[in-house]
Amino acid sequence: MADEKKNIQILIVDDEASARDTVAELLAEDGFSVDTTDSGMNALEMLDQKTYDLIISDLIMPKMDGISLTKNIKDLGLDIPIIVITGFATIEHAVDSMKAGAFDFITKPFNFDHIKLTVEKALETKRLMEMAHEREFYKKLSNSDELTDLANYRSFSETLQTEIERATRYNRPLTVMMIDIDDFKACNDTYGHLAGDMVLKRIAQLIKKNTRGSDFVARYGGEEFFVVLPETAEDEASVVAERIREEVDEYAFETDDGKPLGHISVTIGISSLPGKATTKRELVRTADAALYEGKASGKNRVIRYAEPA
Ligand code: GH3
Ligand code: MG
Ligand code: MG
Repeated sequence: MADEKKNIQILIVDDEASARDTVAELLAEDGFSVDTTDSGMNALEMLDQKTYDLIISDLIMPKMDGISLTKNIKDLGLDIPIIVITGFATIEHAVDSMKAGAFDFITKPFNFDHIKLTVEKALETKRLMEMAHEREFYKKLSNSDELTDLANYRSFSETLQTEIERATRYNRPLTVMMIDIDDFKACNDTYGHLAGDMVLKRIAQLIKKNTRGSDFVARYGGEEFFVVLPETAEDEASVVAERIREEVDEYAFETDDGKPLGHISVTIGISSLPGKATTKRELVRTADAALYEGKASGKNRVIRYAEPA
């Protein structure tokens, strides 16, 4: 722990030497690495040179006060917690500094325990925020869709590209299907969004169940799925699509607590290589066009893309 604290860099900004040194000594004794400076201007320069984990700044200083310093730091896009030091007379300014983005304030005369506690709290909050950012970051990098556990759009796009290249190189068939839930908006409107999510999950499972392990199933958009079937000609894929359509059509969908949801169906558009497309864009466009035709002609059906006459 002592070692960890040594890695934590704290910058103290105060025009008044005695206050500056009191806080600096306290935190240095506690094990932190501490730098000090006497003005906001100097603080900004130091921030340019070194990464700090926490800034403790006096509120009332000539030229650049604590609030301006806080604003400047936020404007730089730096995510460093700032604690301001204030006398009782200026407590309203302390509130203003919080509005400007300061994390907390400590009051003079100093209470050492309070300073330590506020510092710990600020560092802990910073740590939690960093962890949350990291999680967000990895989620974006990930390949799967959280709700359905299927591949997400990003991973679909990469896989489709790879499969098209392979099919083209070895002159092998490749079929794709685009699956869209019929009147899903009405389902959400009637039974609520959570029930809608249940339906999405269940349909994802039904698609998975009816396809091969070597097929690639992705959630393409909100209520749209895409299946990539390598080594599969359109005739064969149409049989699979028909089976999926039928199973959804016959499935008794329920809410979490077992209440029946109304009838639900899907429409499926199919396209394939070779013949109907050569690029990823064309393949998606033609599957989408087939899907659209299925919607226009009454939904709950499987339609293969046909060149417009
Ligand atoms: P169509 O038969 O023409 O496909 O009609 P539709 O109502 O299914 O199509 P539309 O595109 O108008 O609406 C899609 C709806 O899907 C709108 C949105 O509320 C819902 N939706 C999209 N993503 C999600 C999701 O993650 N969860 C839930 N519950 N609903 C979603
Ligand atoms: Mg849709
Ligand atoms: Mg739909």
